Amino acid sequence: MQYMSTRGGINPIGFTSAVMMGLAEDGGLILPRTIPRVGSDTISSWQKLSYPDLAFEVMSRFIDDIPSSDLKEMITKSYKTFNHKDVTPLVHKGDLHILELFHGPTLAFKDVALQFLGNLFEYQLKKSNETLNILGATSGDTGSAAIYGVRGKKNINIFILHPHKRVSPIQEKQMTTVTDDNVYNIAIRGTFDDGQAIIKQIFNDIEFKKQYSLGSINSINWARVLAQVVYYVYCYLHIKNHEQDVSVDFSVPTGNFGDIFAGYIAKKMLPEGSIRRLILATNSNDILSRFVNNGDYSLGDVKVTSSPSMDIQAASNFERYLYYLMDCEASKTKDLMLSFAQTGKIDLSGYKDIINRDFSASAVSEEDVLQTIRDFKEQHDYILDPHTAVGVKAALEHKRSGIPIICLSTAHPAKFGAAVEEAIGQQPPVPDQLIGIMARDSRCEIMESDAELIKEYIRKHAIV
Ligand SMILES: *Cc1c(COP(=O)(O)O)cnc(C)c1O
Repeated sequence: MQYMSTRGGINPIGFTSAVMMGLAEDGGLILPRTIPRVGSDTISSWQKLSYPDLAFEVMSRFIDDIPSSDLKEMITKSYKTFNHKDVTPLVHKGDLHILELFHGPTLAFKDVALQFLGNLFEYQLKKSNETLNILGATSGDTGSAAIYGVRGKKNINIFILHPHKRVSPIQEKQMTTVTDDNVYNIAIRGTFDDGQAIIKQIFNDIEFKKQYSLGSINSINWARVLAQVVYYVYCYLHIKNHEQDVSVDFSVPTGNFGDIFAGYIAKKMLPEGSIRRLILATNSNDILSRFVNNGDYSLGDVKVTSSPSMDIQAASNFERYLYYLMDCEASKTKDLMLSFAQTGKIDLSGYKDIINRDFSASAVSEEDVLQTIRDFKEQHDYILDPHTAVGVKAALEHKRSGIPIICLSTAHPAKFGAAVEEAIGQQPPVPDQLIGIMARDSRCEIMESDAELIKEYIRKHAIV
């Protein structure tokens, strides 16, 4: 399988190069040249596969430059760290199915992709005899999943900046109690935006970036999308087990359009009609739901909500979908993205019918998030985290009778205990991974918010 850029400016490359490149060198995002389709017979033969075996079948259709036995081994290793035998179990609550994606080491769905990406990086670096220094800023969740993805791995060091005392105590501990030699937590005296600005500044120093082989682990990496395609297929198969010729809907809480874009790829892969609609659910940061409902992709101000991992305006994966919406015309995609960078908006109202063939959308208010958590606890004795509640509310709004609907549950409620307590008057039960974490040893460097100081720190601790 060959890969190219949404902006058409790179020569075709293989999967491994695509993963190591991250962002395409022409500023676009990387996509496979074609989406392989799987027929009904193949689907039937996948029916009884375990999660890792299915992951191998799905991923190997997009990867032809890693020997099968190596890929299998990497996948098995990646999902052994999950604490449920089904990796992403499906539970049934009333009219809804809930796909629990939070059984990984940091209790959020990002583990599904980052456990795999960490192993993939290690494998490739060993092969090419190279090193990588991963640098990123986090507002809480992505940092810990990235750290757990690469902790203890050879030839990789990771530097994660978080705003000092501005992440939740649990989030802070989840990051800083990882004391492997290759993990460097830096708390900067400043905000998340200050952290992002520092990262940008450092990555813009091309010499420095090259000298220290800096890389990032953010959600634009194709391998992350690919790893997420698997659970859509897994879930569809599970439901199909009980009903023949079934057509399903998915409801997906969305920030960067990453998770739901994986659903779009799954929809293209599976036989026509297997996935009927993808329901895009945003919190009050509603740029993406405005896009689906009116074709209006225009930036607003970032609002702080109870689902902080979705407090995003410009969605980093949006360009991938835009490319398909433009009928795979790279030059159109590029023009629109360049104009978006200038004006902060794209008018796609003329494409509404095409968009709505695949997507429906709702924006969910803070009040409705809390009410949904409350109702769900009362009706089903099941506690939703606020991100999942956004998706559940949207699912209830769009549910069609006779069509199973699956809500992606992206975080364990204990990670967002304060919001849950506000809704139902009690903290969710604490899972094993978090018991005792507050008392565990931690390591973290507290630094001023200054790119030069961070660079100095990287020079000292980078692996070369
Ligand atoms: C990252 C995240 C999301 C949003 O995922 P995207 O791929 O950015 O759409 C939703 N919920 C949780 C808990 C997350 O950490």
